[in-house]
Parts: sequence; structure tokens; C-alpha cells
Amino acid sequence: MRLSHLILLVRHSSSTLRRNLHICRSIEEMRLYRQDCDIPVHFVPTMGALHEGHLRLVDEAHSTPMTSSKPTIIASIFVNPTQFAQGEDLDKYPRTFDQDIALLTKRGVDCVFAPTANQMYPSNSSPIVHVETLPFLATREGQARPSFFRGVATVCTKLFNIVQPTRAYFGQKDAGQSVLLKGLVRDLNIPTTIQICETTREGDGLAKSSRNVYLTPIERDKAGIIYSALMAGVATYEETLSNDKDRRIASEVIIEQVRKVLHSEPLVQDIEYISVASPYNMQELDVIKREEGAVLSLACKVGNVRLIDNLLVGRARHILLQGE
Ligand code: AMP
Repeated sequence: MRLSHLILLVRHSSSTLRRNLHICRSIEEMRLYRQDCDIPVHFVPTMGALHEGHLRLVDEAHSTPMTSSKPTIIASIFVNPTQFAQGEDLDKYPRTFDQDIALLTKRGVDCVFAPTANQMYPSNSSPIVHVETLPFLATREGQARPSFFRGVATVCTKLFNIVQPTRAYFGQKDAGQSVLLKGLVRDLNIPTTIQICETTREGDGLAKSSRNVYLTPIERDKAGIIYSALMAGVATYEETLSNDKDRRIASEVIIEQVRKVLHSEPLVQDIEYISVASPYNMQELDVIKREEGAVLSLACKVGNVRLIDNLLVGRARHILLQGE
């Protein structure tokens, strides 16, 4: 153990240091830890309220065969206020810090960065990473949540500058975010590779999400319809293309199929969008070509809970998960 780690150990009270897991509460502590940790550094940013989906990202961070040396695994827990618009669920977003730390400890995470909002956004600063130059505000999710992509771009730029990870792990569950961050590190020359990991699901196909706790038991029981609807869209794509020598399909045909399945469940209240978009930039596609595929995504409410999900069609899977 090096000197700066010893200083950190002395500074932490026993409640903030469990076994070998360091908790850095300030940017200064995080920088000090980072200075001396072994590379590569693999980073898993989260807003906490951890579930198996987050923990699979940690598993991926352990297993990615990048070099022969064992990576240092850093996770962050920070409910980022700038990605919530007024009226969204910032105040009631679930916070389960002690349980999160126990789970991350079991999964072999070396360090957790858990700053306060004041640390990240001091009152005299107004940091904003504008994504208006990227076409994200025009995407279906961007129109539904105008603050979201700007907030994600801002907080991830700050986190990448503080943690300086070799590689950062994100979930396909948030497909727009995944595409945005790949573009962000490329365009701003941030020396971090973005690794996208497949969505972890419940037995009935519902994507695991911190927001699933808002569902009543009956809503939870019906929420698997979202996955069934997306699967119906994928099946339509596969069937049509196998019969079509042109190897392209109008997006509307798939969207209608997804809509039909969603409409079969009365607890699906409000279909905000069903989108067929490019895996390169999330722009809507009128036609899907086999060589590009598409991100088939949707947002709807089950009861009062807004849920999002997506499946990758055709080559989009390779483009997003393997990187191109
Ligand atoms: P969040 O805490 O919701 O901001 O999520 C932190 C990271 O976990 C993001 O990269 C999400 O895309 C990812 N994530 C959330 N749910 C899942 C899931 N069910 N499967 C895979 N990744 C997920």
C-alpha cells in the first residue's frame, strides 16, 4: 500500500471503510486514490439503488480481458440532479447507500466515489456540456426529457475527468445514453473507452431498473408486456427480412406491431414513443437496412411509472455492444 492510500485510511472513519473497499466522499480524496491505483482502471458510474443490472456491469468490468494485469474497479454512486427536469423524481429517487456498499463490496469493487451534489456542482459554478451540437435533443427520448442528455453529458464529463478511467461500463438499457457517451469521448478526445453491456432482465423479460420499486404488485405483474412488445417487433423484422430480397423494412411496420401488443394491456397508460433509430446517432429511421440494423426502443407508463426499454435489431447489436 502506498503513502496516499495510508493517508486515506487514516482519514476515513471505520464506517466509511469496509474491508478493502475505499469510499471517497470528495473529489480530492478520489484524485488522491486515483494517483496511486493500479491500471487499468475500470469504472462503473451509477445513481445507486443498485440491482443485478448494475452488478453485472461490475462483473464485466472484472472480466474484460484488456491486459494481463488485474484492473482496479471503481464505481460511483451519485444521483445527478442535472439530468432530472423539474417535476421528475429527483427527490423521491430511491437511495439505499449502505445496502449498495455491501453489494459492491461482495462484488469485489475496490473503490466507490460518492460525492455530494455540492462537491460536483458548487454554487458558484455553472458547468454544462451542451449536446445541442449533437443531434440528441431531437431524438424521441431527448424530446421527452430535454434535460436528460445534457445532464448525463455534463456529469459523465466531470466523472471521467475526476476518475480518469481506462474503460467505463454502461448498460444497453439506456441505449440513447450509450450512443451519446460513445460520441462524447470520441468528439472531446477523452481517453476512456466506453463499453456497453447487455440489459439484465427479470424472469418475464422486464428490464431491471431502480424505478421498478415504484410499481404496485399488479403493475409489476403486467409490466413484462414491454419486453413482449419489443420482441414482437424484432420477430416482425426477422420474418420480413427473411422473405424480402431487398433486405430492408419500413420502420412503421415494426412500430405498429409493438404498439398492437402494448395496447393489449390496459395498465399500459401512456405510450410516449416507439422509436426505430440508428445505432450510430439515434436518429429516427424510416427504413431499416440490414447492414445497419436499428435500436428499437420505447417509453411508456405502467400505472404512473415511466419505463423505458429497447432491443437491438440486426447489426445494431454488433455496432453498439462490440463497437465500430
Ligand atoms: P443508473 O443508476 O440507473 O443511472 O444506471 C447506472 C448504469 O447501469 C447505467 O449505465 C445503466 O444503463 C445501467 N443499467 C441500469 N439498469 C440496467 C440493466 N437492467 N441492465 C444493464 N445495465 C443497466
